[in-house]
Amino acid sequence: VVLAGLWTSGRIEDAENSLRELAALAETAGSEVLDGVIQRRATPDPATYLGSGKALELKDIVAATGADTVIVDEELAPSQRRALEDVVKVKVIDRTGLILDIFAQHAKSKEGKAQVELAQLEYMLPRLRGWGGNLSRQAGGRAASGEGIGSRGPGETKIELDRRRIRARMAKLKREIAAMKPAREAKRLNRRRNAVPSVAIAGYTNAGKSSLLNRLTDAGVLVENALFATLDPTVRKATTPDGIGYTLSDTVGFVRSLPTQLVEAFRSTLEEVADADLILHVVDGAHPDPEGQIHAVREVLADIEASQLPEIIVVNKADAADPFVIERLRNTHKNVAVVSAHTGQGIEELKELISQSIPRPDHVLDLVVP
Ligand code: GDP
Repeated sequence: VVLAGLWTSGRIEDAENSLRELAALAETAGSEVLDGVIQRRATPDPATYLGSGKALELKDIVAATGADTVIVDEELAPSQRRALEDVVKVKVIDRTGLILDIFAQHAKSKEGKAQVELAQLEYMLPRLRGWGGNLSRQAGGRAASGEGIGSRGPGETKIELDRRRIRARMAKLKREIAAMKPAREAKRLNRRRNAVPSVAIAGYTNAGKSSLLNRLTDAGVLVENALFATLDPTVRKATTPDGIGYTLSDTVGFVRSLPTQLVEAFRSTLEEVADADLILHVVDGAHPDPEGQIHAVREVLADIEASQLPEIIVVNKADAADPFVIERLRNTHKNVAVVSAHTGQGIEELKELISQSIPRPDHVLDLVVP
């Protein structure tokens, strides 16, 4: 994929950071980011988002890199997307479409899936346009299905349904979701312990969640066993220094300025976290406002009733962070691990801390002689 964004106001760094976050999101969705462009413009071009000259330049970049998709760092009007597609000659998706795709990848519970499908249909309704066939080439790894962004869930190719039938489906989903709420409460109340301890990684997109996942599971083995109905690309197996096996799952990342129509879908996707035995709350130590991020994550964790779970604050990117900021985070939070997923700094200490924080198998207690 090739990324495209605008620098409309503020500092150029803000536009760059936004595109960087978009790149992390695209990678999360299983795409390979080949290039990116940022155009300086006061407002988006009403016709093609980028100005017409820049759009042609983008077309050349797409052709040169062999990309099959352009991802735009904003929500496009349906007409803008079509016009831009006509210029660049490949599929164009916007930030919202990309985020929805990631949610679809992460939704596991019935409710989560229903919420995501509902949001996808709502988003798709004004944007119906046939893109027959499979246009996307995937980077190896997470997107095992081999389908492109936007084709998980109710993909466009599947939609021969007319709008009325989509609306009927949406109404049905809403009824189903309303009926599922009480069941969720009941489930939460008699939550059973996981047979294998489970650790969930939460935090903002770009905090380094997947880098940390790779660090903690050196072989990068996918967990493939009866605990999971399907092979879940976001769950891996890891082992504590003293040999206790546990599962480590990457959760859908927080994003800055999540479109409001996606908030419900986001929460229900993240709800799986509430079933974990331990949360690794990853914070980007090099971010300008790590406390703000921690606060936002904790607010949502409280919403999904996950705030009582044991939590380790993992301050990542220690190699790039201001030492004063790290000290401040250490002093103001309990259970802090300072690491760098890049250099490996602090990883052994984190493994120890995880080891101390996950529930132990019962037979350990049997060894205690009365
Ligand atoms: P995720 O979106 O939370 O899964 O984050 P990623 O693991 O994809 O990492 C986001 C970006 O941060 C990537 O560009 C990484 O290379 C970078 N990153 C991750 N860990 C570190 C680290 O320890 N130090 C530095 N300097 N960069 C890191």
